[in-house]
Parts: sequence; structure tokens; C-alpha cells
Amino acid sequence: MSYPITQSFIPGLPKNPYRNGVGAYEGVVAHSTDDLNATAQNIHDFEARTYNNAFVQFAVDWTCIIQFADTNYGAYGAGYNANQRFVHVELCETNDPDKFKESYSRYVWILAKILHDRKLGVSEKASFWTHADVHATWPQDTTHTDPVEYLQSHGVSVSQLVSDVKAQYNAMDVSIATVPQKAPSSNSNSSASGLVTVLASSLYYYNKPDWNAKAGTVTKGEAFTVVDTVTVNGSKMYKLKSGNYITANPQYVKYTN
Ligand SMILES: [Zn+2]
Repeated sequence: MSYPITQSFIPGLPKNPYRNGVGAYEGVVAHSTDDLNATAQNIHDFEARTYNNAFVQFAVDWTCIIQFADTNYGAYGAGYNANQRFVHVELCETNDPDKFKESYSRYVWILAKILHDRKLGVSEKASFWTHADVHATWPQDTTHTDPVEYLQSHGVSVSQLVSDVKAQYNAMDVSIATVPQKAPSSNSNSSASGLVTVLASSLYYYNKPDWNAKAGTVTKGEAFTVVDTVTVNGSKMYKLKSGNYITANPQYVKYTN
């Protein structure tokens, strides 16, 4: 299972590194909005006006996942201690069981992906936190106890959420491990010129030959069929069979015929 992430970064956000440095988040905080029927886009637009008080990196509803902010920098989601350690994800609230199901699948997936991107595992109150856990650990920082009550209203306990995120995380391990074997055989009917393997622990890919068209990240060891090489603003990109693009810089990727 996989979902698209719509990147819609809020302009002007502060760029505060985590306590261990830029990109070095230590886990995730699972939130819910406490704003019945507000969509991820509504939350985005609200936070675009009020980010000096609070903002998160992701919000998830029943149709989409929107990324508001770069995960390389801390957000303002749950107070001093959590913000310098963790990425924050908001789950949009609904009373509709079908909408809940749709949004919950996306929530589990993005929580697992954020942890998987840095190989942090899924460990309660270590890499995986609810806002309620943050309140319990640092009560001086925050009074919120979401998303416990909201999830319970749909019959989901926090321990269920943790086990669902673990299962998704483990599924990501498997799918990444199988990509390098599958990719070469898919070459046979195309004009593919080779295979590119990711060397960096995490690397952006692009949906256009444009360094600003970031569409998501790939992880070390993933491999993709290359169909073309293009030069964009003086730097080379590989065009992949999927139609996406990735850097051709040998510092970050390895090319093989
Ligand atoms: Zn919260």
C-alpha cells in the first residue's frame, strides 16, 4: 500500500533544526485536529495564517495527505521538548465511519513512512508518541491529550494504532527489499539504458525535470529503471520509467547498465 503526498509548503515557516541537527528527527507525534469535518486543506490554510502559534508537517484526511513543512526542520506541534525531537502528523476528524476508515489508513501509512525513512522503528514513547504521551512526559509543555479520545470514538485504541503502524512499517521493509530484484526485468520492453540505485539514506525524487518539483523521497537500496538522462540548470537528472526524475549525482546514486 502507498499513498501520494501532496506537498504544499507554507511560505515563511521558521527553519529550526532538531536538537540533533537538520533532518535528524527522532520520531513522530500522532495528533488529531479536534476540529470536526475540517479537511487537511482547511488545516493547511488555517496554519498558513497562524503558524507563529502552531503548525505541523503533515495533515491527513479521507482523501489526501498534505505536507505543509519540510521534515528536515522542527514544527510547533506539542511544545518545546517534542518539537525539537519529532515530526507531527494531524488526523482530521469526522463522525462518518467510512471517512474515518479512509483517513485512518493514510494516517497509519504516513506515520510508518516517516519512521521508516529514518529507520527509527516503531517503539511507543521512544520513536512513536501520541500528543497525550507528550503531555504525560512533559506536562509543563502541553495540555493536549489527542488523538486518544477521537480514535476511541471510532473504536480504535492507541495500542491498536501502534500495532497497525508497526505492521505497515514492516511491510515497507519488505517492499523496499524486493525492488532491486524486480526492476531489471522490467527493462526488457523499453528503451531503458540502465538501473539507478539510491546510495543516500533518503533522497528526493521529482515529478518533472525541475529541481523544485519534489514529489517524495526514496530510500537507500531502492533501484529504478532509467529511460533517459536530462540536464536541468546545469545538473544531470535521470528520467525513470515511472515518469519521475532523480538526481544523477554519483555522490547520491549509483548507475549500472
Ligand atoms: Zn495534538
